[in-house]
Amino acid sequence: MPDAPSRTAEQGAPRKRVVFVVGGPGSGKGTQCDLISRDFGVPFFSAGELIRALIASGCPEGKQLQDIILQGQIIPSEVTVGLLQQAMAGTQAETVLIDGFPRNTENRTVWASQVGYDCEMVLLFDCPDEIMMQRLAGRNQGREDDNEETIRKRVQNFKSQMAPVLDHYRSIDKVTTLRTDRPIEAVHAELSALWRQHFAPAAKA
Ligand code: UDP
Ligand code: MG
Repeated sequence: MPDAPSRTAEQGAPRKRVVFVVGGPGSGKGTQCDLISRDFGVPFFSAGELIRALIASGCPEGKQLQDIILQGQIIPSEVTVGLLQQAMAGTQAETVLIDGFPRNTENRTVWASQVGYDCEMVLLFDCPDEIMMQRLAGRNQGREDDNEETIRKRVQNFKSQMAPVLDHYRSIDKVTTLRTDRPIEAVHAELSALWRQHFAPAAKA
C-alpha cells in the first residue's frame, strides 16, 4: 500500500509543496502566477485577493482591514493565514503557488505555527522601484490602494519588513530571485523553465 500523505499535527490537512511568490507591489506577481497556473495547472492563491474578497463579503472587521490596507500596512497574520489555509483545503493539488505572502516576519512565524510546515521555495521578484511605480500608476483595477501615497508606503514596507524574511529564507537556501523589469513573455519563459526543473517531474508522477 502506498504511504499516506504526511499530515500536519494541528490541522490534519495533507501537506503541500508551497511556493511563496514575493516582490514589491507592481513587480508582476499576479501576472506571472496566472501564466504559470494556466500552463502547469497549478492553483494559485493571492493573499491580497483573498483579503479583498473577505472585505467585500461584508465581514464585521471589514472597515478595520480596509483602513490597514489604505495605510499600506499588513493585516493581522491570523486572518491572512486562515484565509490561505481555507483556500488550500479546497484543492487536492499537491503543489500550490501563493502570491503576496508572507509580508513580514510575523506572517512567516504565524504561518509556521498555524500551518505546521514551511514553504518549499520563495520566488522573489526583483524590480526597481521606479518601474513598479510606473506600472501601478498605469494600471487601473479600481483598487483604492493604488494611489500614489499608499503605493509609496507599500513599496517602503515591502523593503523594510521583507528584509528579515528574505534573510531568513536565504539562510536556509530557499530563495530564488528573478529579475522582473522585463517584458511579460521574457519573465514567463524564465519562470517556466525554472518551474519545469523544480516541479514538473513530480507533478507528472
Ligand atoms: N495584504 C496583507 N497581507 C498579505 C497580503 C496583502 O496585509 O498577506 C494587504 C496589504 O495591505 C497590501 C494589500 O493587502 O498592501 C494588497 O496586497 P496585494 O498583494 O494584492 O498587492 P500587490 O503587492 O500585488 O500590489
Ligand atoms: Mg497582486
